[in-house]
Amino acid sequence: MQSQIVCSGCRSNLLYPRGATNVCCALCNTITQVPLPGMDMGQLICGGCRTLLMYTRGGTSVRCSCCHTLNLAPGILN
Ligand SMILES: [Zn+2]
Ligand SMILES: [Zn+2]
Repeated sequence: MQSQIVCSGCRSNLLYPRGATNVCCALCNTITQVPLPGMDMGQLICGGCRTLLMYTRGGTSVRCSCCHTLNLAPGILN
């Protein structure tokens, strides 16, 4: 089973076998991290603009990509 990801270096589509944690691009040799489906993602509402933000659990803060407000993550939930 193959999945697709966009190379973080040259933006081409890469195919990778499911279960891989990173993919080395054959064109530009950039290593792109694969977001694991089982990765524990949290959501919070930005305090500045009310956008829903995704963050990796374990992180302590999340910067909003819209208004650049630094939000503290409610990290001790798990
Ligand atoms: Zn590339
Ligand atoms: Zn915001």
